[in-house]
Amino acid sequence: MLRILICTDTDLEDLDAAVNAKASIPWIAPKDARPGDQCILSHMGAGITHMGELRSNAVRNDEPPWKGRYTAQLSRIVALEDPVSHEELCEEFPHWKWPTYPRTYTSVDGPLAYRLAQLCGDRTAPGLFDVDEYIAAEGSQHIRRHLVRERNLKIVKEKRRQVVAETGHLRCVVCSFDFFATYGELGRDFCEVHHMLPMALRYEETETRLQDLAVVCSNCHRMLHRKGLLSIEALQRAVRGDS
Ligand SMILES: [Zn+2]
Ligand SMILES: [Zn+2]
Repeated sequence: MLRILICTDTDLEDLDAAVNAKASIPWIAPKDARPGDQCILSHMGAGITHMGELRSNAVRNDEPPWKGRYTAQLSRIVALEDPVSHEELCEEFPHWKWPTYPRTYTSVDGPLAYRLAQLCGDRTAPGLFDVDEYIAAEGSQHIRRHLVRERNLKIVKEKRRQVVAETGHLRCVVCSFDFFATYGELGRDFCEVHHMLPMALRYEETETRLQDLAVVCSNCHRMLHRKGLLSIEALQRAVRGDS
């Protein structure tokens, strides 16, 4: 379960202070909140600015300013290097009505939660947030199935074999980088394989087809996932400089 916590201007200041102090702070949370729940913090104007993790159950808090509301300790707070704006969210999730203040929180699950975690995790400094760790904690069966399929080595190997047979190389379809040409033996048969359909958003089980996969280098692969999911064509335009 991914918790979306809505915050105000003063909340943002508290969050930054907690990041700097590596401290945890009490936060209004749903009654069923559990330690380990991942949270994203969303502000009306600033978008998604921080992520964190709950460290306790939600308990009734009679201290001011909570006045009997349920709070949990929010810990491991990180600031996104590049906040996810409200416009990006609307573009990425056109059918979902984003909760706004004063609604203080909402919880999401399944592909939507996975996609959100991925989108935000990509905006944190490397190592700060691990989507795979989130998925493991989540234990959501259908998401696992998607990931297992994405890493289905058989079809990835088959893709590499097909591309080598047809072109004689394993070149990045975006920038033409060739690991073998640059690294010699060490780079032989190496490339990454990108799935062009957003796996996490597909509810039905569909067979992965070779034409849905693209050979890419590690840099281009990272860029494809940097802001939501960019198309191969859009990244090619960016590399050419006419985006
Ligand atoms: Zn490339
Ligand atoms: Zn990919």
